[in-house]
Amino acid sequence: MKKWVITLLMGIVIAVVIAIRLGGCANDVPWTYRLHVLDVGQGDSILVELGDDRQLLIDGGPDATVLSELGTILPPWDRTIEYVALTHPHADHAMGLIHVLDRYNVETVLMTGVPYASPVYDALKNAIEREGSVVMDPMITSSFINGATTVDVLYPTRDMPPVASDNVNETSLVLLVSDGTNKSLLMGDAGVEVEQAIDAALTDVDLLKVGHQGSRTSSGRSFLAHVRPEAAIISVGEDNEYHHPHPTVLKRLSDVGARMYRTDQDGRVTATSFPQRIDVKIGADGWTERLARAIVSSNYSCDL
Ligand SMILES: [Zn+2]
Repeated sequence: MKKWVITLLMGIVIAVVIAIRLGGCANDVPWTYRLHVLDVGQGDSILVELGDDRQLLIDGGPDATVLSELGTILPPWDRTIEYVALTHPHADHAMGLIHVLDRYNVETVLMTGVPYASPVYDALKNAIEREGSVVMDPMITSSFINGATTVDVLYPTRDMPPVASDNVNETSLVLLVSDGTNKSLLMGDAGVEVEQAIDAALTDVDLLKVGHQGSRTSSGRSFLAHVRPEAAIISVGEDNEYHHPHPTVLKRLSDVGARMYRTDQDGRVTATSFPQRIDVKIGADGWTERLARAIVSSNYSCDL
């Protein structure tokens, strides 16, 4: 056999062995929950797969884009989204949910019911009524979803009522998704006043959905120093008129060592929680997974 053929064959064997071992490392433990920050432009929409075939959709973004995003994640036969949460009634969070209610069965809706005059909000409330969903009030129960993965409302609750503000952003639901090990904190559009209110209730989190598209009115220094996220995801539209995210916020996040992801540059960002780690994938194309894989959990271990 010619020398180059032997070298080629050895190369192929080594590549196959490495591929098998990498695959085994990534796939040998089942994930607990999966959180997709959807690519919906300027606004928020986050799908959480709870690990037991149930889903939670938090906000719907500014238009019907959420439907095409959901269509590439959910299997075609799954026409039910068990839980929907509306963080607050602004159109860039609420509008897409009207389309979702048209297309999917929605069993339960978590919302504050804050008074707010807006045709989009009125249309959404009508759509929820037509759908006949159970409406949950965070002021009555803050334990939203119980199971292997829990979703708790940190704000506003009976124990932590809304801060005094004219800005409806400050009524945003703040949700904590946890499998007992990996904690993801989802801030809606909450600003620094809310951050100060919930500071004491929080310990270290692994992943932060940054408040209010990375506006400088959110993500204060003391708050970030307290929650110390390993990964931070900013849901924001390309070339948006608000110039989100603000450079100050990007600096504050990098100062606490957070690895940053943003939907305007990365597209959809998917964080998958495993017992020992969180993997982050950018883009909707499955081929990007390994290339973009980031290990954000400090106690990650994988024998190679
Ligand atoms: Zn808002």
